[in-house]
Amino acid sequence: REAKNKMPSYKGLEQFKLLDKMGDGAFSNVYKAVDLKTGQKVAVKVVRKFELSASQDGDKHLNREFKKKPRVTERANILKEVQIMRGTTHPSVVKLLSFSESQEHYFLVLELMEGGELFHQIVKLTYFSENLARHVILQVAQGIRYLHEERGVVHRDIKPENLLFERIPIVPSKNPQPKQFEEDKEDEGEFIRGIGGGGIGRVKIADFGLSKVVWDEQTMTPCGTVGYTAPEIVKDERYSKSVDMWALGCVLYTLLCGFPPFYDESINVLTEKVARGYYTFLSPWWDSISASAKDLITHLLCVDPAQRYTIDEFLAHPWCTAAPAPPPPPT
Ligand code: ADP
Ligand code: MG
Repeated sequence: REAKNKMPSYKGLEQFKLLDKMGDGAFSNVYKAVDLKTGQKVAVKVVRKFELSASQDGDKHLNREFKKKPRVTERANILKEVQIMRGTTHPSVVKLLSFSESQEHYFLVLELMEGGELFHQIVKLTYFSENLARHVILQVAQGIRYLHEERGVVHRDIKPENLLFERIPIVPSKNPQPKQFEEDKEDEGEFIRGIGGGGIGRVKIADFGLSKVVWDEQTMTPCGTVGYTAPEIVKDERYSKSVDMWALGCVLYTLLCGFPPFYDESINVLTEKVARGYYTFLSPWWDSISASAKDLITHLLCVDPAQRYTIDEFLAHPWCTAAPAPPPPPT
């Protein structure tokens, strides 16, 4: 994190005072900022218009993404991200407040998600209780349902780094340690109080940089001319939504145990594991997790996209519809 006095200044962004760096990606920096006209705190995503050439420093920025997302910041791509975000209003989707550009940068002014990435909370907590995981994943799922069913948008980059907390969540006083399940129970009260008291708060979907419209709102059909749409396009529309469902399964798995379903030091081995859908509910971490949660994950991490749960099937699963344990009485 950069110190306040080292905040850069961008030509064209004079209306905002940058306070803190909240995230950086291959071609963008995200800052916490204050709108000097209104006093409102916001997040500003600054995207460079011109890519640095790969030889210059391309690779070194792509570390956390396993080099899988060399984003091309072409005008059309940014405008697509902006257009998709402009059209969305849902409590589980980060709001775009305004968009502008200068000669060198695009500026996306976003609703500030003070609590940061779900990714960091997983690291902090080791893993989430089932109730807390449900509370988080249902919010994400409601956002996906809205995108898939009401907007015809596929996000295509659902992951813990792109799921943000509105406020800094209240976390248990001590981290639950894997294998010490008896001890974890003591923390449960605090987890649930976090939910009941609003401490964990809202989670929202961010980063529409890879998202795509697959469905025409006007005609309620896959994009393209009605009646002339080829079957593979119709299928593609359905299958492309299923990529978000796979990702949702990966997020849920990770929330519940603290490590991702697919991992390997070697990118080739990892790719092979994903391609085959090879994962396990590793003991002892998964021993005390409910059969219902495992059943749900099985229907998401399913290699055949036609067999994979849709968002509505996900939301109708007993694990999702189960009422959370009531919060303990205040002491
Ligand atoms: P990229 O395409 O570079 O991944 P993102 O939109 O995902 O861009 O933003 C990068 C990071 O910046 C996020 O992972 C998150 O940590 C932070 N970030 C993005 N948007 C916001 C926001 N509205 N509020 C707070 N932090 C944000
Ligand atoms: Mg991102």
